[in-house]
Amino acid sequence: MPTQEIVVLRYGHRVVRDYRVSSHCCLVSRAFGAKKIIIAGDEDLSIKTSVEDIVKRWGGSFKVEFTDSWRKTITSYRKKGFFSVHLTMYGLRLEKEAKKIGKKKKILLIVGSQKVEKEVYEQSDANIAVTGQPHSEIAALAVALDRLQDGKEFEKRFSKAKIRIIPQSRGKKVIK
Ligand code: SAM
Repeated sequence: MPTQEIVVLRYGHRVVRDYRVSSHCCLVSRAFGAKKIIIAGDEDLSIKTSVEDIVKRWGGSFKVEFTDSWRKTITSYRKKGFFSVHLTMYGLRLEKEAKKIGKKKKILLIVGSQKVEKEVYEQSDANIAVTGQPHSEIAALAVALDRLQDGKEFEKRFSKAKIRIIPQSRGKKVIK
């Protein structure tokens, strides 16, 4: 079972334009064992409602919150003992840093959207790259969550689930 507490901070969200990618950041964070996501940007309650509906049906206690200041969020989480990790292709390579950072009990994982301000790089305890190539916040998040938990997120059980999939080699079996 995962022993770390991981909170994701999504830097930047614009209503309508970023809906799909931000929603997927929420779903990946939940499925890969993060405790909550904090979205810095437009307070888009439609995302919160749809993710809460997933939590109600698929279980667990994942939360979606909004902040009007990514700065205050990073500062307050660092004060609470979280190690802040900013995902950027310009950072140090994840495959080299994952073992050391993965030992931290509390991690604030920051993922960008549109151009990220220089201060985020400076305020973060680590700037980490998932390959040195430009790709996507969703992919970066998934790979980082997996590597930082050393695959333990696959053991996670979602409490109070109303829907559960029974793995099949073919076809679908769902318990409701
Ligand atoms: N053009 C934007 C910029 O200059 O910051 C980057 C946009 S990218 C689609 C959005 C986010 O995905 C980035 O802020 C970063 O968090 C993440 N990302 C993309 N490629 C990455 C990589 N190779 N390693 C780590 N994170 C990455």
